[in-house]
Amino acid sequence: MKYELTEQQLMIRDLCRQIANEKIKPVRAHYDETGDFPHEILKVFAQSDLCGLYVEEKYGGLGGGVMDLSIAVEELSKICSGIALSLAATALGTFPIIIFGNEEQKQKYLPRIASGQSMAAFGLTEAHAGSDAGAIATTAKRDGDDYILNGTKQWITNGGEADIYTLIAKTNPAKGPRGASAFIIEKGMPGFTFGKKENKMGIRASATRELVFQDCRVPKANLLGKEGLGFIIAMKTLDMSRPGVAAQALGIAAGALDEAVKYSRERRQFGSAICSFQGVQFMLADMATQVEAARALIYQAARYIDSGAKDISKISAMCKLFASDTAMRVTTDAVQIFGGYGYMREYPVEKMMRDAKITQIYEGTNQIQREVIALNLIKEAAGKKE
Ligand SMILES: Cc1cc2nc3c(=O)[nH]c(=O)nc-3n(C[C@H](O)[C@H](O)[C@H](O)COP(=O)(O)OP(=O)(O)OC[C@H]3O[C@@H](n4cnc5c(N)ncnc54)[C@H](O)[C@@H]3O)c2cc1C
Repeated sequence: MKYELTEQQLMIRDLCRQIANEKIKPVRAHYDETGDFPHEILKVFAQSDLCGLYVEEKYGGLGGGVMDLSIAVEELSKICSGIALSLAATALGTFPIIIFGNEEQKQKYLPRIASGQSMAAFGLTEAHAGSDAGAIATTAKRDGDDYILNGTKQWITNGGEADIYTLIAKTNPAKGPRGASAFIIEKGMPGFTFGKKENKMGIRASATRELVFQDCRVPKANLLGKEGLGFIIAMKTLDMSRPGVAAQALGIAAGALDEAVKYSRERRQFGSAICSFQGVQFMLADMATQVEAARALIYQAARYIDSGAKDISKISAMCKLFASDTAMRVTTDAVQIFGGYGYMREYPVEKMMRDAKITQIYEGTNQIQREVIALNLIKEAAGKKE
């Protein structure tokens, strides 16, 4: 399929494909096995100008958007979605600054992110506030020209590795979600420490840690937008970042499909390559159809967001939902096509199946995506004149 990509997007795709095959493929099993953080690959991303794909040129980026980021994440995730995630999670941590930052904040933080000097992360989730994000308990209490932060964020991607964190905390807990505000926090601020690195089922090259705030003093200048906007900032950020998770899922699915097609042509049973059996052919056909449908939906969503449209929640949730469910189905079928070999660590498809699962969970579970889609449908129907 041709998707009318721009020159720049074709260049990003080819570059990421090359980096994925030449630099990441030889080391992906190592990082999956050890759970170490792939600093060497992050340096390659920075040297290749991939860190500022979606950042305006005046802040040192390439001036692209969600589409450019999605193309990069898809290509990298075909080979290793855990490594690709550092790029996508940095975008998640950067979008609040892009959407709601003032000029001073943009000038201070975006060039560092665009150059690859600093990674970013986004801290919303807490032990007792996952899907119910409005229930966060981290507080930010005003004290003169500062805020004093107390609380713990859980399972933050790029935690400990990033230098710049956008964080949601309650400035007025009595007001519930409307009492939340967003802040930019820097690694090294006194009172800001990290918990242990999580030992995960998949995306093991990605660092997931707690962020711990104990009387952490943050200057008022680091407040994003206004007090009380935190929940809106979080939701708008997720609307913009969900195509990135969808692209990660798409990459995993497309990578698994490639492996399954290749293996089915090599593996022989009953005197024939297994790709000659209709039972296998039908699986491959369904996998390929789902992958292409996911790609079309993600590209459509990404372009719609980049057009500046405001009503992006539904399409953004749809592409995340569809692509992540696709990734889970396609990787499970890829393992099936590999038979017993697919269950073994020596072959890449079991990692892809482990990696796929998280895309149905983070940035809002797929149950929550369905709620977002349905609520938008109902709202649209209520707004229509009979
Ligand atoms: C590896 C990893 C990385 C992550 N990275 C980040 C990050 O960088 N930043 C960040 O802020 N968070 C991050 N998260 C957190 C992630 O977004 C949450 O795990 C997710 O939103 C779900 O919250 P929960 O795990 O508390 O599940 P819960 O909210 O406890 O949900 C448990 C189950 O109940 C279902 N459920 C809950 N409410 C409803 C409802 N209203 N209707 C129907 N079903 C419902 C859910 O779908 C799920 O199946 C990460 C998580 C993981 C595992």
